[in-house]
Amino acid sequence: MITCPECRARRDWLLLETRKMVFVRCRCDHEWREPDVDVEVFEENFAYPEWSWQDAGDAMVALGFSGEFRGIYFN
Ligand SMILES: [Zn+2]
Repeated sequence: MITCPECRARRDWLLLETRKMVFVRCRCDHEWREPDVDVEVFEENFAYPEWSWQDAGDAMVALGFSGEFRGIYFN
């Protein structure tokens, strides 16, 4: 089980892949590298290449992971 080291949340993650590394981002705005998630598995199952934003900050706001939903779980 993955737990956010900042707020202790246990679900509702955004998985990110950059430079062949997978990161987990929490609704509280905390992000960390997750070496247990294989890049190939991520790309086959979770990647949406048609989604793009001008920069990472815009993407986090658009997806609700810039901290404004800290403590809220969406199903
Ligand atoms: Zn968190």
